[in-house]
Amino acid sequence: MTDMLTPVLTANWGTDRSWTLEAYEAQGGYAALAKALKMKQDDVITAVKDSGLRGRGGAGFPTGLKWSFIPQDNPKPKYLVVNADESEPGTCKDIPLMMASPHTLVEGVIISSYAIRANHAFIYVRGEVLHVVRRLQAAVREAYAAGHLGKNIHGSGYDLDLVIHAGAGAYICGEETALLDSLEGRRGQPRLRPPFPAVAGLYASPTVINNVESIASVPSIIDKGADWFASMGTEKSKGYVIYSLSGHVKKPGQYEAPLGITLRELISLGGGMRQGHELKFWTPGGSSTPLLTAEHLDMPLDYEAVGAAGSMLGTRALQIFDETTCVVRAVLRWTEFYKHESCGKCTPCREGTWWLAQVLTRLEKGQGTEEDLDVLLDQCENILGRAFCALGDGATSPISSSIQHFRDEYLAHLTHGGCPFDPMTSTVFAQEGALA
Ligand code: SF4
Repeated sequence: MTDMLTPVLTANWGTDRSWTLEAYEAQGGYAALAKALKMKQDDVITAVKDSGLRGRGGAGFPTGLKWSFIPQDNPKPKYLVVNADESEPGTCKDIPLMMASPHTLVEGVIISSYAIRANHAFIYVRGEVLHVVRRLQAAVREAYAAGHLGKNIHGSGYDLDLVIHAGAGAYICGEETALLDSLEGRRGQPRLRPPFPAVAGLYASPTVINNVESIASVPSIIDKGADWFASMGTEKSKGYVIYSLSGHVKKPGQYEAPLGITLRELISLGGGMRQGHELKFWTPGGSSTPLLTAEHLDMPLDYEAVGAAGSMLGTRALQIFDETTCVVRAVLRWTEFYKHESCGKCTPCREGTWWLAQVLTRLEKGQGTEEDLDVLLDQCENILGRAFCALGDGATSPISSSIQHFRDEYLAHLTHGGCPFDPMTSTVFAQEGALA
C-alpha cells in the first residue's frame, strides 16, 4: 500500500533538523537553483508549463501559464508573492511544509522569481503561526548568508530580495487581491478585477501570486524534469500533491501521493476509519468545497473527477467524518466561521452569511420548520455567484450539499426537538445509534 506514496516535498521531513540549510543541502537542496540559473528564464517557464503543474492553493490554474501572463515589456518592477495565509478549516498542508522544510519553499521562490524576472519576492504568512514566521525568517537569513539570496546570486548577475510578511489573521487575506491590499498596508479586502494581478498587482505592478505548495514544487520540476513530474497523476491533473487527512481516521496526517489516488486508498494509508465506525461524509478540499459521501470513495482525486461529482478538489483537505457526527452541527460550525470571516465588502455575503447562521442555529436546536430548508437553499442561491469573491460562494457549499445528501437528518432535528446525536437533548443516539 505504501508504494502509492510519492514523497517529494515531504521526503526530508523526517531527517534530523530538516529545516536547516545544512540538512536541506545534504539532501541535494539548492541543486535545482544552480541548474535554473544556467537556464534561460523563458526555458524555466516552459519547463513548469510542460510539467502540467497546476496551482495547489485550490483553483488549479496552470502555474506556468500564469507566469507567462506577466508582461515583460512593462517597465515596472515585477513581483512574486507567495500566498502562505493558510486558514481554511481543515486545510493544513502549507504550515507543516514550511515548518519541516522552509528551504524547499525558499528555493522555489528564488527559481520562480528568476523565471518571471522579479527582483523582489514576498511570502505572506498567517501571522498567528509565529513559529512558522520565525522558521521562515531563519531560513531566509541562512539563504542570504549562503549567497542564495541577495545581489548577484552565485555570480549569475541576478538579484533577489525576499521578505517574510506576517498577516494579521484574516481568512479573507488568503484571497489573492485582498492579500495584496493587506501587503500594501491597507485593510484586506478583495479588489475588482480586471485589472488582474499579472498586469497591475502589488503596487500596481505585474505580480504573480502562487500558493506555497505550487512554488515548493518548482525545484523538483527543474531538478528532475517536466516529464518526470508529468509522469505522475492523471491525464489533466499532473504530479504529486499533499493530501491532508484529518478527522475520524486512525492515523491523520499529511500523505503525499499522485493526483488521482482515491479516498479509499488514502484512508487505507491512514490506517482505516476509527475502529467500528464507517465513513459518513467528507470534504475533498476544505470546508468551502461541497460535501461528498461514501458513494464517492472510489472516485479519483483529481480536478476533473471531483468537479464532475459536484465538488472541488480545493486544497485536498480531506476532513473525514464518521456516523457519530451530526452533519447539521458540523455545517453550522463552518457557517459561523464564514459569518465571522466575511470582510463585509459586499451585501450578499455580509448579510447572507449572518442569515445562514441564524436559520441553521434554529434548525440545529430543533426549533425551525421544514420550510427553513427552502429558506436556507434560497439564501444560498442569492449568495452563490452574486458575492464579490469566492468566500461568499464557499459559505454556501457545505449547506446546499449537506441538504442534498442529508435532508432527512435536518428533518430529524425538527422531529426530535433538538440534535438527535446529542445524548443531552435526545435519547435517539443512545437508542438507535447514528442516523446515517
Ligand atoms: Fe467580502 Fe464576503 Fe464579499 Fe468576499 S464575498 S468581498 S469576503 S463580503
